[in-house]
Amino acid sequence: MAKKTSVRVPRTKSPNDGDGNKIRNLVLLSLPSKEYARLWPKLELVRLKLHQVLYEAGETIKSGYFVNSGLFSILAVQPSGKSVEVGLIGKEGFVGLPLVVGFRSSPTRVVIQGDATAYRCDADALQQLLGPCPELGQQLHRFGQKLAMQTTQIAACNRLHDVEERLARWILMTHDRIEADHLPLTQEFLSQMLGTRRSSVTVSAGVLQRAGLISYTRGNVTILNRPKLEDAACECYGIVQQQIKDWDSETR
Ligand SMILES: [Zn+2]
Repeated sequence: MAKKTSVRVPRTKSPNDGDGNKIRNLVLLSLPSKEYARLWPKLELVRLKLHQVLYEAGETIKSGYFVNSGLFSILAVQPSGKSVEVGLIGKEGFVGLPLVVGFRSSPTRVVIQGDATAYRCDADALQQLLGPCPELGQQLHRFGQKLAMQTTQIAACNRLHDVEERLARWILMTHDRIEADHLPLTQEFLSQMLGTRRSSVTVSAGVLQRAGLISYTRGNVTILNRPKLEDAACECYGIVQQQIKDWDSETR
């Protein structure tokens, strides 16, 4: 179970939540102080563990999460049990987007990668806040658009690009969000993320390792040469990064 601590209303737009936890979620940091004051009493910090399932496909979504650290993977799960990752969310975003438009379920599973923290908000409370907090709604809709764009690109990537390129793209996207050079990634988990066989992951990781881009030992990937890893990834990584940059500059 997630460990919960209280969140107090900050007097100013502080990067701390009053309990000494640094606020890093970009949606929260973008809000005007009036909206902060309404939102803060409804939030609680939760700590989540590696591989914890936050939402199971088809279950009622009871809470939304403003991601503060770590990485949340969105998986498309088939009745056979096979899965493939279709989206990644880090501190730039929010998990539970169906709630923003009044939906309470989703066909996807959300799994935690690495130890993560998030500010949890009850589904009813969030929906009640969207009326008096228009900027919160705007920011969540914008993030939803970014995630949809990322998902579209990943759908193309999963069909069009080699496992080796996709693995490099995936490590980069994970690195951006986890912000550590050591990533706790088992072969089995990677094969679920990439929707491919474990043997394919082993071969692809071996290619990247022999080229000196990563080291890959049981359960751990270490990034050794990030610029070369960007060269080895398919163009999907750059396309997503550039579009987010363009949209951010259009709304500044
Ligand atoms: Zn790709």
